[in-house]
Amino acid sequence: MTAHYPFALPPLPYARDALEPHLDARTVSIHHDRHFAAYIDRLNRLLAPYEAYHSWPLPKLLLCREELPDAIRLGVCRNAGGVYNHDLYFATLTPASSPGPAPVLEEALIRDFGSMEDFRAALHAAALDVFGSGYAWLCVDGRGRLSVVKTANQDTPLPLYPLLCSDLWEHAYYLRYQYRKGEYFDNWYALVNWQAVVERLARGLGQTDVAPGP
Ligand code: MN
Repeated sequence: MTAHYPFALPPLPYARDALEPHLDARTVSIHHDRHFAAYIDRLNRLLAPYEAYHSWPLPKLLLCREELPDAIRLGVCRNAGGVYNHDLYFATLTPASSPGPAPVLEEALIRDFGSMEDFRAALHAAALDVFGSGYAWLCVDGRGRLSVVKTANQDTPLPLYPLLCSDLWEHAYYLRYQYRKGEYFDNWYALVNWQAVVERLARGLGQTDVAPGP
């Protein structure tokens, strides 16, 4: 992801049909090339006249929203969130056959959720509990504690550092799964790029803008 304005659409790290049969090529194409691209375009258009914010990275646009001019605050929050969330969503998927979590992540998940199955169940329950559009997340706090959280619309879990997100907007699954959100979740979960999640965990533990745990 480009660090700051002008933001550019990151290319998909796999072919548009590479996630079949779990996620169909048409859904992936529309999701990435239309929805994700639209958040990038709108964010750039909003920021274009405001040079003072051209050097701000995405997390700063989201965390320091009170410093933004009233005229663009809401639009920047919505669209910077859309960019941040979709960047993470596509970067943490991989064609099925990804090995499971590396020991360092598996141990942390078992420590904080009880077992891998309990973690999966917690994320699944959060995903099904998202009312309307939003996301279910796995996050790490400044003390290395993992948690599952939900957000609405294009809100992010920042300053908790997100490791993984399930996009529960209907555009993420409706063409193939319609009302079968649980089936979409199971198929999405089969595509999780655990190597990318482990790399994010290492980065998250080194972040200074991560919220301290309780
Ligand atoms: Mn989406």
